[in-house]
Amino acid sequence: MPQRIGMGTDLHRLEPGEGIMLGGVRIPCGLRAVAHSDGDALLHACTDALLGAIGAGDIGELFPDNAPENRGRNSADFLCEALRRVQQAGYRIGNLDTIVNLQSPKLAPHKAKIRENLARLCRISPTRVNLKAKTGEGIGIIGRGEAVEAQAVVLLLHGGE
Ligand code: MG
Repeated sequence: MPQRIGMGTDLHRLEPGEGIMLGGVRIPCGLRAVAHSDGDALLHACTDALLGAIGAGDIGELFPDNAPENRGRNSADFLCEALRRVQQAGYRIGNLDTIVNLQSPKLAPHKAKIRENLARLCRISPTRVNLKAKTGEGIGIIGRGEAVEAQAVVLLLHGGE
């Protein structure tokens, strides 16, 4: 198949802490994501999108959240392994579009850095990566600041450039 598409979504509960990891970038604030790994919902959503596109299951199958080796683990490891499988299957990323739902803090000052780091981890140009930041409008679990959520859609192209 010349093209494959994949989607991913992830959610982590928030609690008082020293910062939220998003796209491999620490967002300084008084919150942290509750997780077995480093709780990077954006990298988890991107990992699932990549795995989904090649029909390779999900992040929980690859990296069980009860495995000691995954405790506090850098989520970039998950993305790298998914990318390795994508490349092994003969595909490369066409583009990656993402959304982060977070009430606070505002992500605007961090968007460029997150986008650039996502592109670096995916080994593609930042022009092929997009990040949209949304709030929960003060309602629901996002709006009340109880959780951070991320969504990702990736298009894979078969073969070289
Ligand atoms: Mg997760």
